[in-house]
Amino acid sequence: MENRFVYADNAATTPVSKEVVEAMTPYLTDFWGNPSSMYSKGREARRGLDEARETVAAALGCAPNEVYFTSCGTEADNWAVKGGARYMRDKKGRTHVVTSKIEHPAVLRSCEALEREGFTVTYVNVKPNGVVDMNEMKNAITDDTAIVAVMLANNEIGTIQPIAEIAKLAHERGALMFTDAVQAVGAIRVDVGELGVDMLSLSGHKLNAPKGVGALYVKKGVRIAKFLDGGGQERMMRSGTENVAGIVGLATAIKSAVERLPDMERVRKMRDRLAGFILGNISHTIYNGDPDLRLPGNLNISFEYIEGESLLLLLDLAGICISTGSACSSNSLEPSHVLLALGLPAEKAHGSMRVSLSHLNTDEDVDYIIEKLPPIVARLRAMSPIYPGDDKQ
Ligand SMILES: *Cc1c(COP(=O)(O)O)cnc(C)c1O
Repeated sequence: MENRFVYADNAATTPVSKEVVEAMTPYLTDFWGNPSSMYSKGREARRGLDEARETVAAALGCAPNEVYFTSCGTEADNWAVKGGARYMRDKKGRTHVVTSKIEHPAVLRSCEALEREGFTVTYVNVKPNGVVDMNEMKNAITDDTAIVAVMLANNEIGTIQPIAEIAKLAHERGALMFTDAVQAVGAIRVDVGELGVDMLSLSGHKLNAPKGVGALYVKKGVRIAKFLDGGGQERMMRSGTENVAGIVGLATAIKSAVERLPDMERVRKMRDRLAGFILGNISHTIYNGDPDLRLPGNLNISFEYIEGESLLLLLDLAGICISTGSACSSNSLEPSHVLLALGLPAEKAHGSMRVSLSHLNTDEDVDYIIEKLPPIVARLRAMSPIYPGDDKQ
């Protein structure tokens, strides 16, 4: 096959679509007013902002006044976890938080910040398939629990969590329920009513909108601490002049993503074909995460006797972008906390590869990965002093 460029790291970020750029451009060139200004120049921007809020609300199945725009998914996660916990402490005296061991750092580090404020946090385990242990979850939530924070879909292994069930347990005990849906929105159906959550976060750049814009759904009647003090934007909860163009981009992207959800079945088939090839043709491989309760584009496989960084760099030379749960790639000394939570030993976590496909990928992309991957794996293993040999290749 001809050399090509295959972007298979859509869980890290996605390209901004042409349609999104076109929707945003007037808000940078013509409608640059401050949406809080009352004259017509401001009202142009306000109209874009209001329409965007309606579009995002329609995509999530909620009301426009339940959508708060933020500067990113990380901000929405921080606000939900800290704002929810602090409000419940101040108003109800609750000082306990429940989360899972496989949350995004935006949630885990927020929980740790709450621990430094005097909260206690229970980090619930996942089963070996990456799905939260529901027995443990049930026992973890108490009458002192302020908030339960569990992600809808994991960014490394794609596992989809039983959020509606967890929300029910949380509400039985009077706790708030938050879910990080950054990876899920646009990849699977996400409806806040069906999920029964009080809060849900999403991010623009994971669904073909720009970086630096996100949103937090907060159910009507649910009170949390405000995030930024200032001029009172976002119904007094999150001050700061709105990123109008970015928000219009987010709305355009989410609408398209929801409309093309049926195409994710094609993405699932490509993912499964790649998985089937790797497991059938490359020895000493481990399929990480659940094969079914999983985002359609996500594949996570560990290659024993290989370092993830080396694999990433050689695939990059071949024009393929993937990521790894190995240590050096993640600004830390430890391999992926998600893979370790599955019970994977550190050396197997080090050799992991995450492929995340999107609607932009094609069968030819998968063919190309299938052509390039096996010789690279073989070459790296040939350099390993502990590799016992190969029975399949
Ligand atoms: C990317 C991601 C975030 C952070 O979103 P940003 O907009 O990059 O800050 C949070 N949670 C999950 C699951 C993610 O994948």
